Amino acid sequence: MRVLCEARSDVGRKRKGNEDSLFLNPEQELYVVADGMGGHAAGEVASRVAVDAINEFVTLTGGNEEITWPFGLDDSISYEGNRLKTAIRHANRRVLEATRESAEYEGMATTVAAVLVDGDTAHLAHVGDSRIYLWSSGEISQLTSDHSWVNEQIQSGVISPEQARNHPLRNVVTRALGGRSDLVVDIQSRRMGPGDVLLLCSDGLTTMVPDDEIARVLGESGGDVADAVQALVGLANERGGEDNITVVLLKFEE
Ligand code: CA
Repeated sequence: MRVLCEARSDVGRKRKGNEDSLFLNPEQELYVVADGMGGHAAGEVASRVAVDAINEFVTLTGGNEEITWPFGLDDSISYEGNRLKTAIRHANRRVLEATRESAEYEGMATTVAAVLVDGDTAHLAHVGDSRIYLWSSGEISQLTSDHSWVNEQIQSGVISPEQARNHPLRNVVTRALGGRSDLVVDIQSRRMGPGDVLLLCSDGLTTMVPDDEIARVLGESGGDVADAVQALVGLANERGGEDNITVVLLKFEE
């Protein structure tokens, strides 16, 4: 299967800097969105350190070299799944190290949503509230479950998804790179069909544009992912652009 990738990261309308990092490595078929948090420019640093470290490990394990796996191999998941999971744990270590380098970096952290493609299988990983969606046969489905305070409240039935949208604590993530050293990474593998589209995004898209509208934009684009990326970022800005907006679309073709 061939993967067509279109992506854009936009500062939005309210923030001075862009703390999101976008990373595309078509050669390794690695695609990453990271949404950094922290004062001054620390969020930018956290997300950049994370995507660079993820790429470093994935690239290192893409060849035939014998390398040491810093956290061992998880035999319940595939080799590619292990590459992605370990890359993110390695990145967590790098972000934690960076937080100790300067007082300004203390407390910085980042989310990650990443896809590693192998043939017709997509390996998906995430930490935090950056999301991965599947758009297939005109239907949208969210494949990842946010590691956020509001999502935990929704899952335990305390608040509704509607209440979560405007909740004052909607930005609180419960899992991020730069937090605990024993980071748990959610990982899944999915067989892709021709025409299927994966959407990776930071919450700057999903807090501004509800899922049904994302699906409508993807439908109206008629499969043109370049148009769809522009339309999604444009719509998030039209609705206020309160946060940085990062969108990656991966279209699978025969
Ligand atoms: Ca954000």
